[in-house]
Amino acid sequence: MNLIVAVIVAVLILTGYGMSRAVSKALGGASSRCRFSAVKIGNMGRAEVEKLLDRIESVPEPEAVVGAMCYEPIALPPVVEYVCPVCGTKTDYNDYGESWRVLSVTEARMLFDTLTSLTRLQISLDETVFCSECRADSSAEPDLVLHVTWDDGSEHSSPVTTEDLRMLIGLFSGGVSYRTSNDGSAPLGPSAVRLREILGLIE
Ligand SMILES: [Zn+2]
Repeated sequence: MNLIVAVIVAVLILTGYGMSRAVSKALGGASSRCRFSAVKIGNMGRAEVEKLLDRIESVPEPEAVVGAMCYEPIALPPVVEYVCPVCGTKTDYNDYGESWRVLSVTEARMLFDTLTSLTRLQISLDETVFCSECRADSSAEPDLVLHVTWDDGSEHSSPVTTEDLRMLIGLFSGGVSYRTSNDGSAPLGPSAVRLREILGLIE
C-alpha cells in the first residue's frame, strides 16, 4: 500500500518537474532571442479581439476623469542619447521632437511589459529605427513599432506612441476606458478606429 502511494507521489513530482522545465525552456529560449518579444501559450484570434473592440464601441461612454494638470516643465538636454539594447551603439538626437520620442522609450518598454501580461496576442515592440546601426533606412523617423502576429500567421506592423500602448492596455484589461499619462481616465470608444489601425483590423 505504502509502495503504491510512493509511486503515485513520484509520478506526480516527475510530471510537475517536466512541465515546469518545458515552460521555462520555452520562455527562456525566446527572451534570449528578442528582449521585447512575448511568448504566449495559445494565440488570440481576430474574432476575440473584435469582441473587445465591439464592447468599447457599444457601451455608454464612461465619463472622462481629468488627471493632474500642473507639472514642472522639464528642460530637454541639448543632446539625448539612445543606447541600443541589441548592439550597444549610441545614437545622439538633438531635434526637439525626436529627443522627446527617445525619452519616451523607457516608459514605452514598461507599458509594453504590462500589455504583454494582459494579452495572449503575439506582439513585439521594435525600437530598431532609433539605432543608427540597426535601422535599415537612415532617413526614417525614429518611431516605436508594434508588430502583431495573428493566430493564422498573418502579421501587421504599426508605429505606436505611449498613448497608443496605454489604450491597448485598457482594451486588453477588458475595460471601456484607459488610464491617461497624467493619471486621469479616458473612454476607449472614440479610439476604436485607432486601435483597429494599430492591430491591422482595418482593410
Ligand atoms: Zn543597434
